[in-house]
Amino acid sequence: MATAEKVTPPTPSGKRGGVMIAQEGGRWTVTLIAHFGPHAPEDLPSFIEWPKTLPAPFIHETIRDAEPIGEAAQAGMPAALRRRYERLDRFPQGYLVIGDAICSFNPIYGQGMTVAALEARELNDVLAAGDNTLAQRFFSRAAHVVDNPWAIATGNDLRMPETVGPRNTAVNLINWYMAKLHRAAHKDRDLSLAFHHVANLLDPPPSVMHPRLAMRVFFGG
Ligand SMILES: Cc1cc2nc3c(=O)[nH]c(=O)nc-3n(C[C@H](O)[C@H](O)[C@H](O)COP(=O)(O)OP(=O)(O)OC[C@H]3O[C@@H](n4cnc5c(N)ncnc54)[C@H](O)[C@@H]3O)c2cc1C
Repeated sequence: MATAEKVTPPTPSGKRGGVMIAQEGGRWTVTLIAHFGPHAPEDLPSFIEWPKTLPAPFIHETIRDAEPIGEAAQAGMPAALRRRYERLDRFPQGYLVIGDAICSFNPIYGQGMTVAALEARELNDVLAAGDNTLAQRFFSRAAHVVDNPWAIATGNDLRMPETVGPRNTAVNLINWYMAKLHRAAHKDRDLSLAFHHVANLLDPPPSVMHPRLAMRVFFGG
């Protein structure tokens, strides 16, 4: 296996996906993803068979010959949830909320730990200025941290017709553009990199719409 990560993402029409990520000692973690349908199976024979239903064969082809080191475990995610603590006028002195307790994302986007770490950095900064109105100052900065990943994750979730949530023209337009970008990125390294910079929270979402990239999205890269 040449790379350290293999991904077959779920799509609006095919709601199953899988991810393999290399770990130390020649081990891999394998995650199977099912949206809006029966969970991926936990028992080992079915777990090995299930990735046959994915559009790309590599997960099944790899794990059918691999040695399992433990049982599979299921994790359900009923909804992405964002709590707007920054909108409160008052908050109990001596308490704070951080990480998933502020906002929990669909884990498929792999954002939660990064967001929690970025919030911890903000907390470090606001603590340096003393603890007067600490909660208000922290929640306001945490909200800025959450804005982009929340927009990315919920915007993409809304591509699935079954997702419940408000859709507007902007979300539909962005999703239409992103679908075109994904297709063009199959053959265009710069588009692929630009997408991954946004997905990994290194660049803001509008960066993938820079005119230089938009031309390549519309004209095939
Ligand atoms: C299947 C799955 C895959 C994920 N993959 C990724 C990924 O690839 N990349 C990524 O960045 N994020 C990923 N995430 C998200 C990431 O795990 C979370 O965003 C992150 O763990 C949030 O950290 P946290 O400290 O806020 O909460 P948690 O990690 O949930 O920690 C909260 C802790 O509080 C404890 N606790 C709860 N109630 C109490 C109580 N009453 N008393 C004492 N302790 C209590 C819990 O046991 C837990 O240890 C994934 C999540 C899931 C479910």
